[in-house]
Amino acid sequence: MTQTLTILIALSVLALMGSMAILVALLIMKAIKSFMKKETIKLKKPIVISAIVAPCSLFVIIVSMIVGQSTDPTAWCAHEYTVLEQQDANCTNSGYIKKMCSLCNNEITETIEPYHIWIEDSVIEATCTSQKQIKKKCTRCETTEYEKVGDLLNHSWIEDRVIEATCSHPKQHINKCSMCGTTETIEDGSTIPHSFGDWLVSIDPTTEKEGQQTRKCTVCDYSENKAILKKSPITIFDQSYSIDFLGGVEITRKIKNNTDKVIKYITLEWKCYNAVDDVIYDKFTGKSTQKLRWTGPFDSGTTTNLTANGFYNSTFSNAILTEIQIEFMDGQIINITSEEYTEIFK
Ligand SMILES: [Zn+2]
Ligand SMILES: [Zn+2]
Ligand SMILES: [Zn+2]
Ligand SMILES: [Zn+2]
Repeated sequence: MTQTLTILIALSVLALMGSMAILVALLIMKAIKSFMKKETIKLKKPIVISAIVAPCSLFVIIVSMIVGQSTDPTAWCAHEYTVLEQQDANCTNSGYIKKMCSLCNNEITETIEPYHIWIEDSVIEATCTSQKQIKKKCTRCETTEYEKVGDLLNHSWIEDRVIEATCSHPKQHINKCSMCGTTETIEDGSTIPHSFGDWLVSIDPTTEKEGQQTRKCTVCDYSENKAILKKSPITIFDQSYSIDFLGGVEITRKIKNNTDKVIKYITLEWKCYNAVDDVIYDKFTGKSTQKLRWTGPFDSGTTTNLTANGFYNSTFSNAILTEIQIEFMDGQIINITSEEYTEIFK
């Protein structure tokens, strides 16, 4: 009921204000237009409507207020309360205040929550491990409570000891608080290098896969690994030579097939040198290199003598291989270089 009346009053106030605003706006427009000596606008209709709406709205407002006041006086009262009855709260039980409006007799009861009456009892000053604490005591029931305030004090550091750098940590300054004994570690500089033992083979290389070698720090157990190149598919050893009276050089080499496959061809190229390591040239062709291909089969695991003729220079003393290529029966071709394989020569 009260709500309906409130809405009704609000709508009437809006209608009243709206009609008044329209009327005022039209009067202003008329004044401006007549001032500019132009045709007068027709005002009759809006004025009549406003003249009806405004008093009607006013009437509705007044009637609504009278009806509201008579049907629900407490909702329309400005209330002037006086205390009828009062019970104060204590430390554990709540209290109340009972009031009555002297205009409309409306009664209300307010609750008072339980409360302590605190006084400051003592103070524990802040340290570097705890905040300042204020001890409060209730004058009524002796309950105590601690209130923490402010910040911790700073530690007062003194250097306790120094630990020299190792391979696992830098130099360390161990500081200790002279008040609470807390310690802190401050690192300074960098670690010292590890003391490695020898490289040891941890995984043997094969002709197919790289191996691995490992070395360990003797101080801290840190270890590091390094790859070992694949084992060469062939090993070349026992290189020897002979020179005949025409200066014709015959070189003999032993070749071992380290793979488990059959080699079809072995191709070698080498450069020739004299006893003081100068490059020498074939006296017929003028070339310093010689390249030959031997046809197999060279079976897995077997050793074969490879003989080379056809280089003429009586000062020959050494041949250094510059190219090694093998071709297997299955068509696979491998160029053997010291960047990719170990144990090419023995
Ligand atoms: Zn009242
Ligand atoms: Zn208390
Ligand atoms: Zn401290
Ligand atoms: Zn170490």
